[in-house]
Amino acid sequence: MTNKQSIAIIGAGIVGATTAFYLSTAGYDVTIYDEGTGQATSAAAGIICPWLSQRRNKKWYQLAATGAAFYPTLLRDLKEDSIHSDIYRQVGTIVFKKSPELLSKLEKIALKRRELAPEIGELTILSPDEVKAKLPLLVSNQSALFASGGARVDGSLLTKKLMDTAVSNGATVSNKKAQLLFSTNGTYTVSTSEKNQEFSTVILAVGAWLPEILEPLGFSVDIRPQKGQLIYLEVEEETKDWPVVMPDGEKDMIPFPNGRIAVGATHENDEGYDLAIDKEKLAAMLADVASVAPSLATATIKEARVGTRAYTSDFAPFFGEIPGYPNLYVASGLGSSGLTSGPIIARILTQLIMNEPTDLPVSDYPVASYIQKLSI
Ligand SMILES: Cc1cc2nc3c(=O)[nH]c(=O)nc-3n(C[C@H](O)[C@H](O)[C@H](O)COP(=O)(O)OP(=O)(O)OC[C@H]3O[C@@H](n4cnc5c(N)ncnc54)[C@H](O)[C@@H]3O)c2cc1C
Repeated sequence: MTNKQSIAIIGAGIVGATTAFYLSTAGYDVTIYDEGTGQATSAAAGIICPWLSQRRNKKWYQLAATGAAFYPTLLRDLKEDSIHSDIYRQVGTIVFKKSPELLSKLEKIALKRRELAPEIGELTILSPDEVKAKLPLLVSNQSALFASGGARVDGSLLTKKLMDTAVSNGATVSNKKAQLLFSTNGTYTVSTSEKNQEFSTVILAVGAWLPEILEPLGFSVDIRPQKGQLIYLEVEEETKDWPVVMPDGEKDMIPFPNGRIAVGATHENDEGYDLAIDKEKLAAMLADVASVAPSLATATIKEARVGTRAYTSDFAPFFGEIPGYPNLYVASGLGSSGLTSGPIIARILTQLIMNEPTDLPVSDYPVASYIQKLSI
């Protein structure tokens, strides 16, 4: 199918890259602008397991659970083997709680949720020995809940595959910082240091940088940045089949193939858009994870990553068309679960653009609650 509607996507984290993939696959003329600095997606831990969260917001849960269930479809659409892919894999998730009572409460919640979300997979309370059998580095005298459907995703590899496929579909990429301007004829201009280009449709997928792009145009935007740091350790064992571990109150462990283990992350609310690596915080994360996996205390830190999450004041994400601005779409506020919800949000944005029924009601995630026009 060829469709000549010209669409600009500003931002190529998980939301922008997935949108670019689906729209370019559908034949749209897509231009993507991504400056890349501070991107949350490439710094993310990669945990996909919303069902074991005890967050009470039902619309958030609906979105995150639909997002987690959507991953195998996305992998299939990308022609990626969802069983053996290095990008995404359902390796299972082990969750610890402070007491057996809290663990059995969590198991009950998960069993109830599984009625509508079979993706959770098998739910098992593991004894300390069974925990160790699943992940030999863990030393714990506690039982834990194992959900076989929990997954890990490599945000960098996924966005690379999405963008490479979009480019092979004919999309254009600019690595410049972009500015949005309103044209008098009802179209939108995207301006970079290189050129100005007009588009009939624009998608703002800029994560935490939404105020920077909309406030100069007279909008107030309820988004604040949160700094997140993550470390990658290297171990000698083969880690590709190891499950994700979420110790209670401690830092999470996310094993990736070839001995790589991500540990993190920090949630720093007072650092603005700062991207400096804080060695004290990295050391504290290492000490934290060593309390459940002592051998990691001396593991080599191979890499540290820093990204900026986007939060609204009520922690809820939003997406859809900006009211009063036809064909100007936005998604932001994905917070700490955006790798889980990002692909389904992107899919819904493409459904809106293609006038198709949406997988979830967009009215549950209203843009107008977070973006208001203050002046002309
Ligand atoms: C340390 C850390 C750990 C996390 N762990 C998890 C996890 O385990 N599970 C989970 O589900 N989620 C996790 N998250 C959250 C998740 O990563 C984010 O919610 C999600 O990636 C946000 O995606 P996005 O596309 O909205 O924004 P981003 O990924 O931030 O992408 C926005 C892009 O827009 C670009 N940009 C901004 N302004 C402009 C402009 N004017 N011109 C051009 N480009 C621009 C930026 O440079 C960036 O590349 C984590 C986040 C962090 C930071």
